[in-house]
Amino acid sequence: MIWTNWARTASATPVRQVRPATEEELSDAVRQAVRDGLTVRPVGAGHSFSAAAATDGVQVDLERLTALHRVERDPATGNALVTVGAGIRLHQLNRLLAERGLAMQNLGDIDRQSIAGAVSTGTHGTGARFGGLATRVRALTVVGADGEVRHCSPTENADLFEASRLGLGTTGVLSTVTVEAVPAFDLRATEDVQPLDHVLGHLDQLVDEADHFEFFWFPTARRVQTLTNTRVAPRAEHGRPARAGRRVLGAAGAVRTFVHEEVLSNAGLELVNRTATAFPATTPTLNRFAAQALRPRTYTAPSHEVLCNPRRVRFRETEYAVPRAVVVDVLRELDGWLRRTGENVPFPLEIRFAPAEDVWLSTAHGRETAYVAVQQYWRLPYGRYFDAAEQIFGAVGGRPHWGKMHTRDAGYLAGQYPRFEDFRRTRDAADPDRVFSNAYTRRVLG
Ligand SMILES: Cc1cc2nc3c(=O)[nH]c(=O)nc-3n(C[C@H](O)[C@H](O)[C@H](O)COP(=O)(O)OP(=O)(O)OC[C@H]3O[C@@H](n4cnc5c(N)ncnc54)[C@H](O)[C@@H]3O)c2cc1C
Repeated sequence: MIWTNWARTASATPVRQVRPATEEELSDAVRQAVRDGLTVRPVGAGHSFSAAAATDGVQVDLERLTALHRVERDPATGNALVTVGAGIRLHQLNRLLAERGLAMQNLGDIDRQSIAGAVSTGTHGTGARFGGLATRVRALTVVGADGEVRHCSPTENADLFEASRLGLGTTGVLSTVTVEAVPAFDLRATEDVQPLDHVLGHLDQLVDEADHFEFFWFPTARRVQTLTNTRVAPRAEHGRPARAGRRVLGAAGAVRTFVHEEVLSNAGLELVNRTATAFPATTPTLNRFAAQALRPRTYTAPSHEVLCNPRRVRFRETEYAVPRAVVVDVLRELDGWLRRTGENVPFPLEIRFAPAEDVWLSTAHGRETAYVAVQQYWRLPYGRYFDAAEQIFGAVGGRPHWGKMHTRDAGYLAGQYPRFEDFRRTRDAADPDRVFSNAYTRRVLG
């Protein structure tokens, strides 16, 4: 069986694939692999661009461990603690939460990933006060190399908890994850097109005054698409049941929504990229067109519907977390490189923001962060572009997303994470024989 990831940037031929339906079956699968002298890799939705989930040993697919186990009230915050099977996909989790009047505090761009895969690679959204998914994990259970199930939280197996809530599955296989959810909320989404210089000149204000701010920038275009989402009480603005937010736009609005989401983001983006691939000289014009094509719009909808969107155009991506204080310089350098070389890039950069986080291997650990995602259409070469971007990011102490493409190794990464040695010590104790390893984890963790 040949396994490939969504982006077709990684493939592998596992000796066997198992789909445990219970925690006991999961433990047995790990024990059997160890008896057979094989390595083990859990896999979620295969949406990492890096080869994090690849294995030539036993692939453990958790698609059958998706149950909702319990919903409790956290006495400290009053929020709900929701325990689910680690293989649950984010869209399933979002639906379960919405049915109970709950929501994830923040989400990334899509909802196809498993919760375990998303937290294990440091998946994040945007918002200067709202951290990545791993920051919302309050407890988990992990099946170790000895097949034992260990409950972990800040007060029980605390180091294993820290290393497992963002650890690329190298301390064991997560079987359940407990996340802190918040009361359901809507987002008032404002999409706009603004001059690049204005956005870069007022960046702190735009980021700090919004709940969730990000922007898309088609290379060399002088205008960018800004997305500003404001948290509001459910139904406060449109006065209709949740999900009606987009429908209140009426017929004209529906056409605009279709133009935005299908023509410009999916089918239209595909057409632009195919044209740019066949006729590279058209790319600057296409980028200018794409940057201007969006018309400002505002709508209100439940949070997960605003934050997560379908992404049907296949692409490659490297993304680095850089100190927020230097992101404008980083973007100007990238702009300079793209202009000097005339590289054919008809895909936008995406720039997002996060607060400092305490998770040991979070790319936002200990510093206010800006994320710069460098994306390329899958039919076009990406090597020179990504190399140049990595050099620019590396010069400012950038940290690559664990689930995206990059060339860094443990030597570089150890210098970027103050708790790297704590992580390695905990991993050594949990998995001294490196049962849960592959070529990627050996490169990035040593
Ligand atoms: C179109 C697209 C959009 C994306 N948008 C964003 C975004 O907005 N923000 C962002 O930060 N990232 C984003 N990503 C990256 C993505 O969120 C991460 O790569 C995430 O890990 C994918 O989850 P998955 O379930 O597919 O995990 P996989 O890719 O299958 O696995 C990822 C890692 O998790 C481990 N793992 C999986 N299951 C378990 C388990 N049960 N126990 C222990 N370890 C486990 C695997 O071994 C592997 O190391 C995007 C990716 C794509 C393709």
